[in-house]
Amino acid sequence: MQVFKFGGASIKDAKSVKNLVNVLNKTGYKDTLIVVSAMGKTTNALEIVVKNYFDQSKQLQSSIQDVFKFHNAILLDLFDNEKHEVFKKVSTLFNDLKAFLDRNKSPDYNFVYDQVIGFGELVSSTIVSECLNDLNIKNRYLDVREFIKTDNYYRTANVNWEETQKRINANFNRNQLNITQGFLGSDSNNFTTTLGREGSDYTAAIFAYCLNAESVTIWKDVPGVLNADPRYFENAQLLNRISYREAIELAFYGASVIHPKTLQPLQRKEIPLYVKSFLNPEGKGTMVCKEAGLDPQIPCFIVKKNQVLISLSSLDFSYIVEENISEIFKLLHLYKMKVGVIQNSAITFSVCVEDLYQNLNELLQHLKATFKVTCIEDVSLYTIRHYTEATKAQMEKDKEILLKQLTQETMQLVTK
Ligand code: ADP
Ligand code: ASP
Ligand code: MG
Repeated sequence: MQVFKFGGASIKDAKSVKNLVNVLNKTGYKDTLIVVSAMGKTTNALEIVVKNYFDQSKQLQSSIQDVFKFHNAILLDLFDNEKHEVFKKVSTLFNDLKAFLDRNKSPDYNFVYDQVIGFGELVSSTIVSECLNDLNIKNRYLDVREFIKTDNYYRTANVNWEETQKRINANFNRNQLNITQGFLGSDSNNFTTTLGREGSDYTAAIFAYCLNAESVTIWKDVPGVLNADPRYFENAQLLNRISYREAIELAFYGASVIHPKTLQPLQRKEIPLYVKSFLNPEGKGTMVCKEAGLDPQIPCFIVKKNQVLISLSSLDFSYIVEENISEIFKLLHLYKMKVGVIQNSAITFSVCVEDLYQNLNELLQHLKATFKVTCIEDVSLYTIRHYTEATKAQMEKDKEILLKQLTQETMQLVTK
């Protein structure tokens, strides 16, 4: 059993979907589970729908229509016959989305978000499944919500592993090609939940774990895991092999090529993870496995833009102690801040965060009740794993450094 994950970039238009078929034909697809994300930037487009809904914006219907048109254009390109069942299936999904918004009474943003956002993956998996069937690549379409059960911490739901394992054991047929949605699950009331942005990699790992799969392959628009994000660094080099531990570190510090939650389930069962290019499916890509720290052994660079540096000191200049720190972390959790680096001295506590859910103002208001707060927005967080003197100097050059932290293996800089 092998698990493939195709992300948004790999199915962003009709040509890419045809390329997915090409990948399957080259690699083989016997006893395979395919996990797909939403097409292209659909998730962002659906986030706008949710925002319009809560803002009671006049743009609500047109924002839904935009998402529909995007998919319909892909359908028209993929299927000659407009009477094909897939057109109806996709329209029905969009009608379900509208019906949900018409009927909804819940004021809970996170709940509504998950009910709406899930349509991206439901639509993409329907299209991919029908397209493959049409090409005689017979497959079974699965609704992932019948398999992956979670709590109701909407937008970053936690997997109920026991229930998920039970359902996979009972209802998953390994001996065929299966297609399902990444990123989604369902709670005990069967409402849709999501596993956190970019969570489809994690879905692939959850299935692989529960199925004792032989491998997971995530298909990307890059040759594999590189030692730096090619969007920001020139001459990024391919890493042939890296250990789970190293990959966990890279993902933790923000190497967005692998979702951080993906690695632990795979490591536990020593299931290898391949990161490969959907443009060159026969390329070696990167293998993440138990052995090999890092091959080649070179420094790795990670940058996270659009971070926020918050510094706190007590209003009466007393020390920042355990009690304050636990209060600060409770608030960071409450407002779903992603912490990149922390540093504390006797009277100041600094934390660099990513405001994934636009909660910064509320967090700052809350903190100001107890602390003197300074906040610098739009900073960058650079991390170098396995830094050398040369790379350290190169990184620091020409930058306004707001915070620096060095451990034996890792250097982090917050810069403006
Ligand atoms: P998906 O289509 O699966 O959602 P992503 O866009 O999330 O794919 O991930 C692929 C992107 O990750 C690449 O285009 C690249 O810009 C970025 N990336 C960041 N860090 C790295 C890295 N270390 N190696 C390779 N790609 C990286
Ligand atoms: N579609 C989701 C997102 O864009 C999940 C994923 O792509 O992994 O966040
Ligand atoms: Mg992605």
